[in-house]
Amino acid sequence: MAKKTVQDVDVRGKRVLVRCDFNVPLDKNQQITDDLRIRAALPTLQYLLEHGAAVILCSHLGRPKGKVVEEMRLTPVAARLQELLGVPVCKTDTVVGDDVTAAVAAMQPGDVVLLENTRFEAGDEKNDPELSRKLASLADLFVNDAFGAAHRAHASTAGVADYIPAVSGLLMGREVQVLGDALSAPVRPLVVILGGAKISDKIGVIENLLNKADRILIGGGMANTFFAAKGYDLGDSLVEPDAIATAADLMARAGDRLMLPVDAVLADAFSAEANTRVALPTEVGAGWRILDIGPRTVEVFSEVIAQAGTVIWNGPMGVFEMAPFAKGTFAIARALAASKAMSIVGGGDSGAAVQESGVADQIDHISTGGGASLEFLEGLELPGVAALQEK
Ligand code: ADP
Ligand code: MG
Repeated sequence: MAKKTVQDVDVRGKRVLVRCDFNVPLDKNQQITDDLRIRAALPTLQYLLEHGAAVILCSHLGRPKGKVVEEMRLTPVAARLQELLGVPVCKTDTVVGDDVTAAVAAMQPGDVVLLENTRFEAGDEKNDPELSRKLASLADLFVNDAFGAAHRAHASTAGVADYIPAVSGLLMGREVQVLGDALSAPVRPLVVILGGAKISDKIGVIENLLNKADRILIGGGMANTFFAAKGYDLGDSLVEPDAIATAADLMARAGDRLMLPVDAVLADAFSAEANTRVALPTEVGAGWRILDIGPRTVEVFSEVIAQAGTVIWNGPMGVFEMAPFAKGTFAIARALAASKAMSIVGGGDSGAAVQESGVADQIDHISTGGGASLEFLEGLELPGVAALQEK
């Protein structure tokens, strides 16, 4: 399981191809609205530069589907990266074209070249050996620091490792270590909190964690399908009829370890302006829907979190995008922050919710990979991780 990182190999005087996750949000004017992913890559890049490597960077951005899309060029990323790194970043116009060959041939230790959006090449998502080979021919070593793309077997995340030695970057290394330890050797009790809209998105995660966790706390829309399996009338709440049998089966197998909300915030419409009331899950009734966990549930869950050794959280407790239904999610974030437990948050919306809650700096690990962290929690081997050399 343990993979080599940049710290386990000699990078001095080498050309190093680094796969980053620079898939940043851009506004209409090509301005980066959140540069977190660029900042997250800095430790690995600084390490390589300080240790005498010449650094060739690559990343995808958006979904250009194998052709050049002007609005998806990495030009804004190059500019921001140059500011943050404090060294010139030479950006090429192609992924593996003649301008790349020329730029790379001229590189000295300490130089940084950023290749164009890898998904401008159809071969990236197809994991085409020809593209992998061309990328590999640029460098002596491949470093994968794109945890957010590690669940994809693409040329720039996995294929290139068929041709040159491949190790993980510092960001990827920490993701794999923290998530890996939490699953294989957690400080107990291990408490898993699951929420989000739909149980069907998370069945694989629940299955994998069912027998590992000491407690499983269920919130969010997902809890509704468990309530439905108990026969409650949930009014207009989001319920997945096709998953009721699965929910019943999971409850039976988990027994007391699985805890459902004991109260809920109800609304009479899916709107921030709706009328709301707090009620028992058995008292929803016609015209109302569950949009958050209630205050008593926050108390019960917070108590469990306070006693935990490790907490893994995926999925918001309510519709946190609307202020009246964000209280449960933010309260659970604060409980995690206050707990002495190793606290880990995975999932795209969950990470965003924790950032909004204002206590992100008190959480031990907020995964940078939404889909990748979910697949990791499902116990699946990520192709971008599998391709790396063992320690
Ligand atoms: P993540 O991205 O962290 O894995 P999900 O995508 O599974 O999380 O779930 C996030 C979504 O779940 C949010 O958009 C939130 O509004 C929604 N959600 C949470 N609770 C409910 C609920 N009770 N009813 C409907 N949607 C909900
Ligand atoms: Mg999501």
